[in-house]
Amino acid sequence: MEFKKCERCGCFFVSQDNVCYNCITKDRAEINMLKNYFDINPNIEANSLNALSIQTGISEKNLNRYIQDKNSDISDLVNNHLNM
Ligand SMILES: [Zn+2]
Repeated sequence: MEFKKCERCGCFFVSQDNVCYNCITKDRAEINMLKNYFDINPNIEANSLNALSIQTGISEKNLNRYIQDKNSDISDLVNNHLNM
């Protein structure tokens, strides 16, 4: 068994995922929030991650993680609304 450090809260845990069990729930909630935000504002274009962070209330660090998760459909969705 290999210990991993949670990318979100920094705690150590054993799993295949990059974030711990508690943070998976938080990630899912934020991703749903992001999807809703883009549903409500389909034409929004943020010119930086920081701007998007301010608009959505989701930290830049977490937005960055979601973008880098190529297995997730949120990556494309966020990139479609980023105009950097
Ligand atoms: Zn965590």
